[in-house]
Amino acid sequence: MNLSTVSHFAVDWDFLKAYLCQRDAHFAIHWDWITNIRQSLDSPTSLKDDGAGKVIGKDAELIERLRYQLLHERGENLDASDIQAAEMLDSLFAILTHRETTSLRHLRRILDDPAFVPDAVAQLEWCMDPKVPLDQVLASSRRLTKEHFAAISHQSDLAGPAPWPMFLYAPLYLSSYCVNHCLYCGFRFPEAVPRRILSAEEAVRQIGLLVERGMRHILLVAGDYPQKTSTDYYVDTIRAIRRHWPVSLAVEIAPQSTASYARLVEAGIIGVTLYQETYDWNLYRGYHPQGPKSHYDWRLEGLERAAEAGVQRLGLGILLGLADPVPDARAMVRHAYYLKERFPNRRIAFSLPRIHAGPEGFRVPHPVNDETLIRLYCGLRHAMPDAELVLSTREPWQLRDLLAATCITQLSAGSSTVPGGYGESATHFGDEHDGQFRVVDRRPVNEVIAMLQTQGHPIVWQPTGHNN
Ligand code: SF4
Repeated sequence: MNLSTVSHFAVDWDFLKAYLCQRDAHFAIHWDWITNIRQSLDSPTSLKDDGAGKVIGKDAELIERLRYQLLHERGENLDASDIQAAEMLDSLFAILTHRETTSLRHLRRILDDPAFVPDAVAQLEWCMDPKVPLDQVLASSRRLTKEHFAAISHQSDLAGPAPWPMFLYAPLYLSSYCVNHCLYCGFRFPEAVPRRILSAEEAVRQIGLLVERGMRHILLVAGDYPQKTSTDYYVDTIRAIRRHWPVSLAVEIAPQSTASYARLVEAGIIGVTLYQETYDWNLYRGYHPQGPKSHYDWRLEGLERAAEAGVQRLGLGILLGLADPVPDARAMVRHAYYLKERFPNRRIAFSLPRIHAGPEGFRVPHPVNDETLIRLYCGLRHAMPDAELVLSTREPWQLRDLLAATCITQLSAGSSTVPGGYGESATHFGDEHDGQFRVVDRRPVNEVIAMLQTQGHPIVWQPTGHNN
């Protein structure tokens, strides 16, 4: 499918009115708003614009929310008229925000489309084929990673043993409060775990400890609790951190509106990581029974909204253990190419977090063994050779070392998954039982660096092209 085939910013007002009248419980209020918006379109100077389309007015926010609300409410009953109405609301949003891309949001359409990037998907499937020896897959992945990443380093020699630069980062958990009920997570709302949210000052102090260990790129992580972790909270925290430390920042937080992402970009983030967990709509709804995360489309299009708001680095992921990983990986590859076509100058990154254990009573329904995990990472390297591949400390050191020598380009080290978990000692991780997941590779940063240097990786502390 060519993305230009869905380029049509047009609104059929009569259709939209009839549709909303039938499907929207708050039709009268919403139609009043939409009528006002329509009138304002006749006097374009009334629209706010910073020249780059980043200042998003209340009208646009309303339209964006309404579109997702309707998609969510229609759920499994979604039909052609719902899609048409969603596209019209998206058209309206695009017009109001002077969107840079020329096509409508239509990610759902391509996730299962075998005609979309078939060669990339075939590469993934080749790596997953048990008839292909694992050694062959590993060697091919290593060659591809060197080809695409070694040139970044002056020290690397394609013909020699030196591999590609390894970029190190650390997560900082800002908050363990969460209103969602994700069945697999230790931070889910019903769990009786100690909850904590860091103040901006506490976050600044925690980052100071990470900077002392050499870290210059920090992934800010938080549960979803709108009253506590609001956009204002993130903006204040990010600004405070950047006033004190020369670090680059990305966020792994609940999906935001386009306007909120734009505020985070303005405050100083360069990246957003947003795992879909599983692309299977039915399974997704089952694992996320309550809370804002139950809104599949709001999450699915989160990275697209982030890119529209100016985020430079887009991190995708599936949570291994929730579903058959191969269809999920196929959908993720299509998702990544969709983003790449719409936003060609953004960096794409993949993560494959694996559930080792969940809250009491949760049994991992699709356990993924080590070989499958390795093949999946190699499959992503083959499907999109220039994508960043990210690996966390959830995995044991032996597996991390093998993957670091094969295809990984970004690695966390010495991580804590507890808000305020970093202490003066480099081996202090907070109480691991209070974390979102258990840190399995508990080596301090200097030990991980020593391992990477043994493998020949030059160490990079900041993402390429982003020096603060
Ligand atoms: S996975 Fe994220 S959103 Fe879900 S319960 Fe855990 S912290 Fe909350």
